[in-house]
Formats: sequence, C-alpha cells, structure tokens
Amino acid sequence: MAEIVVQNLCKEFGSFTAVQSSSFTIEDGEFFMLLGPSGCGKTTTLRMIAGLELPTSGEIYIDGEEVGRRPASQRDIAFVFQMFALYPHMNVRKNISYPLVSQGMPRARVREKVQEVARILGIEDILDRPVGGLSGGDRQRVALGRAIVRDPKAFMMDEPLGALDAEFREHMSQELRALHDRMGATTVYVTHDQLEAMQMGDKIVVMNHGVIEQFGKPQDIYDKPATMFVADFIGSPSMNFLDFDGAVQPGSGAVTLDGQALPVPAAREAFSGGMAYGVRPEHVRISDSSAYRGRVRATEYLGTTQIVTIATPNGELKARIPSEQPARLDETVGLDFNGTTVTLFDRQTGRALG
Ligand code: ATP
Repeated sequence: MAEIVVQNLCKEFGSFTAVQSSSFTIEDGEFFMLLGPSGCGKTTTLRMIAGLELPTSGEIYIDGEEVGRRPASQRDIAFVFQMFALYPHMNVRKNISYPLVSQGMPRARVREKVQEVARILGIEDILDRPVGGLSGGDRQRVALGRAIVRDPKAFMMDEPLGALDAEFREHMSQELRALHDRMGATTVYVTHDQLEAMQMGDKIVVMNHGVIEQFGKPQDIYDKPATMFVADFIGSPSMNFLDFDGAVQPGSGAVTLDGQALPVPAAREAFSGGMAYGVRPEHVRISDSSAYRGRVRATEYLGTTQIVTIATPNGELKARIPSEQPARLDETVGLDFNGTTVTLFDRQTGRALG
C-alpha cells in the first residue's frame, strides 16, 4: 500500500506542454481516477507516476520518498495496460506466475501465490488452460492476476476496460472495484468515461489541456463543480448554463434573469458582469406557479423519466422530470429552481463564483 503525492508535475514534449503543474495527493488504499477528454494528459501523468516517463519538472513522492527520477523497476508499481496483453504461448498459470518466476521466487511459493490469486479472481478452474481460447472476461482476470500476484505498492491502470462492450464493461468495473475493496491497494485509474469515474472512484482528478480543473470526491465534483468545463464534462445530460448579465452582492440569495429573481446559494463575494446560471437537468422543476418561463422544444422518453428541452430567454435548458408529468411540444411552462443546487459561474473565466 502506498501514499502518492504529486507536486507541481510538468511534462513537455518539445514546445508542447502535456501536463502543466499538477499537484494532488492519493491516499493510501484509495481508488483514484484521472478523468478527462482525449489528449488532456491523463496517460502522461500516469506514466510519470509509474516511472515510464521522466517529468520535465516537479516531484513524485511514494510513501514520503521522492521517486520522480527513479526507474520504474525501483518503484514497486504494477502497470495494467489494456488487460488483454498476455503471453499467448503460455497457459494461465504461467502467465500469472511469470513476474514471480522472473524475480527468482522459489517454485513452491510461486505455486501458493498463484493459487491464492486465482482464488481471489475466481479462475482456479482455468489455471492449466492456454490463454488463447479464453473469453474476454477471463483474459482480463488473468491479466489482473499477473498484476496483483506480486503484491505491488500500487496499481496503475490505463483505460483497462476500454476495449469491452458497454454491458460487460459495467460488470467488470464492479468486479474490479470489489477486488480493490478486498485488497485495499492504492490504484490510479485513467478513464475518459465520466460515469465510470463517478461509479468507481474514491477521488477524481478532472483534467483539461494538461491542467487540473478540479480534484475531489465524486459527489463534491458533481454537486460543486469548480469550473464550467467540469460541470459540462460530468453528468448526462450535462449541466445547463443560462447566460445573463447582472450583479450579486455578498449575502444575496438571488440573481435576476429576464426580470425574474432566481435563487442562488448565498453569495460570499460581490460580482458583476456576464454570468452563467448553472443547474443540472434533474434539479429543474416544471411548475405553473413560476414566473420564469420557457417553451417546450422537444421531449425524450427514457422510461421512468423524460428529458424535456426548453427554450428560455437565457438559452436552451434540459429538464429531467417524471415521465407521467405532462410536457407538450410548444407549450409555455414555468421553471422553478432550488438555490442550493445551483452554481453561478463567471462566464469569462468559466470559474464558479463563491
Ligand atoms: P488519450 O485518452 O487520448 O490517451 P490522454 O489524456 O491520456 O489522452 P496523453 O496520452 O497523456 O493524453 O497525451 C497528452 C498530450 O501529449 C497529447 O496531445 C499527446 O499527443 C501528447 N503526447 C503524449 N506523448 C507524447 C510523446 N511521446 N511525444 C509527443 N507528444 C506526446
């Protein structure tokens, strides 16, 4: 198990900055997600922690020791690539035991360890089978087995479920999380899938263009996004942004959009200028009593809920409401918001206002 501290980590490839001054702490035993769109620097960050890429500057501490310039072999970290990377000419047992055999561990001990790992992963019955004929799920379990068999301090996983279809991916992600809960080893996991990050992670770092946008627990990031990028990237459909020009004063609990006072969390700082009124679809209520109004443009039936697209004077908005609640095309409806679930953003910087 290991605590990993990353401080002011930078990586430049020529004149291109892939990772810019990243700092975060991964606590011992945490399942930690690096999340962001393609090219944002997730893999580069992971590779630097694992020792597969040299940082341009900054420090990486594993259990208090600075390891940023040490080779991967001295960091005691297992890197799980796409889990299908197995040795095709070996059977399951040999694939799993390979890291131990190459360390020179006595054969009896290797047998014991492989048996233990196979039991944890539920693959004892296929130990003597060639890996070639295995199903996708079993191949993944074998690849995981090879990573966990040597009890590394931490696991680095780069989109390990990326090649799977949606249904099986969901199943394997639950299995992986359960395995982590049993073993408790610090795990750093790269994904571009916000749902996967929310479901699996203890903490999430959200990256964009090499910069950390936000770092925290899934629920904090969802409820209190620090930037419009995070608010937009996390959640489906993503947060609505109603554009308006106005002012807020410290302590004030409302802003004015289209002549109507709409609730916001009590402001701590004064601000005036272009803002976005950020509200998630599930926090929009359609209510006749509200004076802030919009016109229904589309409805999308999803079973127990429906997504209703509404044109407002401040831009389009999506509401997730119960399917049985009527919402007719072209009808004008009142829209109601709860201030505690709203986030106000400075439109120019994209940052949430405090
Ligand atoms: P993806 O999910 O697409 O892999 P990512 O967030 O993991 O995205 P990285 O692989 O870390 O992104 O890459 C970040 C940026 O750095 C990308 O623009 C990529 O093209 C660039 N990059 C990565 N490795 C190198 C390299 N060896 N030389 C030059 N540029 C690189």
